[in-house]
Amino acid sequence: MLTRRSLLKGLVVAPWLLRAQEICAQASRGSAPLKIKDIKVIATSPRPYLRWVFIKVLTNEDGLYGLGSANCAYLSWAVKAALEKHFVPSWIGKEADRIEDLWQWNYVRSYWRNGPVTNVVQAALDSALWDIKGKRAGLPVYELLGGKARDAVPLYAHAGGASVQACLEGVQKYLAQGYRHVRVQLGGYGGGGFLPPGKGSRPETGFKGQAFDEELYVETISKLFLQLREKLGAEPKLLHDVHEHLTPSAALNLAKRLEPANMFFVEDILPPEQIDYFKQIRGVTTTPMAMGELFTHPHEWRPLIAERLIDFIRCRVGMIGGITQAKKIASLCEQFGVRTAWQEGSDNDPINQLIAYHVDLTIPSFGIQEENHFPEVVHEMMPGAAQIRGGYLYCSEKSGLGIDLNEEIAARFPMADDPKVSDWTTVRGVDGSLVKP
Ligand code: MG
Repeated sequence: MLTRRSLLKGLVVAPWLLRAQEICAQASRGSAPLKIKDIKVIATSPRPYLRWVFIKVLTNEDGLYGLGSANCAYLSWAVKAALEKHFVPSWIGKEADRIEDLWQWNYVRSYWRNGPVTNVVQAALDSALWDIKGKRAGLPVYELLGGKARDAVPLYAHAGGASVQACLEGVQKYLAQGYRHVRVQLGGYGGGGFLPPGKGSRPETGFKGQAFDEELYVETISKLFLQLREKLGAEPKLLHDVHEHLTPSAALNLAKRLEPANMFFVEDILPPEQIDYFKQIRGVTTTPMAMGELFTHPHEWRPLIAERLIDFIRCRVGMIGGITQAKKIASLCEQFGVRTAWQEGSDNDPINQLIAYHVDLTIPSFGIQEENHFPEVVHEMMPGAAQIRGGYLYCSEKSGLGIDLNEEIAARFPMADDPKVSDWTTVRGVDGSLVKP
């Protein structure tokens, strides 16, 4: 007779149940509390202009560690000290699995928050913990974030030159390489708007260098893009970065004048202090707006997204607190029809590039990703750094972030001092007054 006991006994030995137990054991494997055992702070300058601060978070599980970047190129020594003296000692012994909880804990730990130093420190730990979680699961981080929402990450390239012809050739070069999106700058930072050194009406003494003139800039840049569009046809996606140099009325004027050029976006047309003017820009032009390279605070990006005043959010993922915060911003963007265009820059590093990449792959609100590439020595120092092929970015497909750091090579390049003459953000007008970047 089949009793309840005999039925249960039969079930215990059934092959399918053994298989279920095995699956259950696999799922719970490695779920014992994972602790942060130690953290190395690794500061390195593989090139003099690169001042990178990385962390290597070691756990109590043999050989399991995660990497993070606290990249804040112009405050790198302050970041190193913040990590070594303030944050790292407080992270030892914490549970490495609790990414969100540790993010929130870090956020309030220094009481005053949302500054560049605290944000990159926050991002460094966040990245390392996602790296650890991915390695522990045997999966790339993007799989933990929901899996691929696209096959690879399209990039925009940077073209530029001193003339319309040079800009045109630059765009054509990148189109031939497979890029569809190209940012074009007439010369460098603010290029197209400069009076040559000593030229124009100048005070008797004082500043004689090249001087920014916003009317000249608006005139030159709008003509540049109208010519490029005419020569390139409708297909290429054209982008431009104003670098925040304009007053609100000049910004309005430029946005309107660029309308016939059908821009993919115009970036940072206003400084962060004047973002309320995006309402007026929205009201008079269809030129798409990208904003946020300098943002560090939710009060900066939230109204622009929630009021649908911009088309692309441009924060640097490492500068807003890492993957955890970027996913939340991307979700907010999705609700309001805004897209992402995470900032990169020549000072940024392969770990920061990868945290943007893993988010990019998984979000429906993705717009475009800024390109960044590294000298060969960086690829030797950081095996698994993302690769660019045909205008797309690809990761190594290894578990975690998919990158490693060769500490011996990093030690060969101790972090450089901040150059005493570093003032590339300084732009002045003819009277010697500062133009806000
Ligand atoms: Mg920019």
